[in-house]
Amino acid sequence: MASGFSSQILDEVRSRVDMVELVGQSVNLKRAGENWKGLCPFHTEKTPSFTVNPKRGIFHCFGCGVGGDAFGFLMRQDRLAFPEAVRTLAQRSGVELPTQRTPEVEGKLEGLRRVMTLAAQFYTDALWATDGAKARAYVESRGVDLEVARRFGIKAPLPDTPSLPIGADEVTVLEHGVAYATFPNKGKSVTPHSVLEVRTGTGDLVWRFDRDGKKPVQAIPASVASDMAGMMSHVVSEGTARRAALDGIPTAGKTGTTNAYRDAWFVGYTGNFTCAVWYGNDDYSPTNRMTGGSLPAQTWHDIMVAAHQGVEIKEIPGIGMGTKLPVPVASAAMAANGAIKPPDIKPGPPPILTKRGADILVRVEKMLDEAAKAAGKTSSGDPVKPVKPVSSNSVAFPESFAAAVPGDAAPKPVPRKN
Ligand SMILES: [Zn+2]
Repeated sequence: MASGFSSQILDEVRSRVDMVELVGQSVNLKRAGENWKGLCPFHTEKTPSFTVNPKRGIFHCFGCGVGGDAFGFLMRQDRLAFPEAVRTLAQRSGVELPTQRTPEVEGKLEGLRRVMTLAAQFYTDALWATDGAKARAYVESRGVDLEVARRFGIKAPLPDTPSLPIGADEVTVLEHGVAYATFPNKGKSVTPHSVLEVRTGTGDLVWRFDRDGKKPVQAIPASVASDMAGMMSHVVSEGTARRAALDGIPTAGKTGTTNAYRDAWFVGYTGNFTCAVWYGNDDYSPTNRMTGGSLPAQTWHDIMVAAHQGVEIKEIPGIGMGTKLPVPVASAAMAANGAIKPPDIKPGPPPILTKRGADILVRVEKMLDEAAKAAGKTSSGDPVKPVKPVSSNSVAFPESFAAAVPGDAAPKPVPRKN
């Protein structure tokens, strides 16, 4: 046999494999007489034309014509070579495969193994030698505990995995975003991809990301991802990225600014999406003192508002639906006075400010200004700013204001205390 397996061995494995069980792991099968039927995993269809005959140990699709035995199924489904499929099924069914390697093959493999061992040993020695100080410092700067690294047997220079770049080193915007996507993904790494599946002209599935793509790994424990989400939600609710806050959507993230304001960014996520926004100049010259909480957070906000239109809002693992945005004082006061009810915001297309809308906003602004003047709490040049409920003492009530400036006929603005 070219594959190195005798036909007796192959028959033995085939006879021990339950085809319905094997195929049933990836296809929902229903009994139909002697056969079992389901939707073909190798082409798209709405009515089942994929059949399994457990007695004969074969499968066949009347839609796309593929068929074969247990080995054939596994080769197609898991993209395995024939010997791999045989080994996998032999192991599962408890059939011991005789080692049929010739001394010549074994000798070549032994040589390769030796090369790999030597290379690993070389990297280990280099890392822990005196000359490896720079490499060790680099590993440490990436937040990898060297003792842990040693325990894990890290022998080669560390590759850029999605969980590593969350530090101070240079990373691309894509890597930055991908790394953050680990948090809402319960600590599992995310592989960026743009191709979801590949099919032949006749519709046969050749490759599908969720089946054949890189499998996610648990980069950090889910509990740590939750804790991080909790902390980063405060960046948005009361930290540097308040401009990124989304109404009714749990949000977490982190702003960043490099020395001399060369870069400014905000990377954040909801339960639905992760988005990274970076601003900087092409020639690496400093920006006009831009910080991550200004334009980047605002841009992130506007992108995410559009992205979440018509989407079912998901929780962020660890913080759930988060806390609602504090109600701005101005609208709270209006609601209390029964003057104007704040409109219910329903999901719809991204907002576009029309001429009429702009006129109305200007009128509303004027009304608010006049109302504020009448209440004597601010001058016309100082627009009413939303204030957190906890610091409501910073908005002077007419009585306390009167007490603060006795005898002064013309009210002056009260300095904000927060
Ligand atoms: Zn098919």
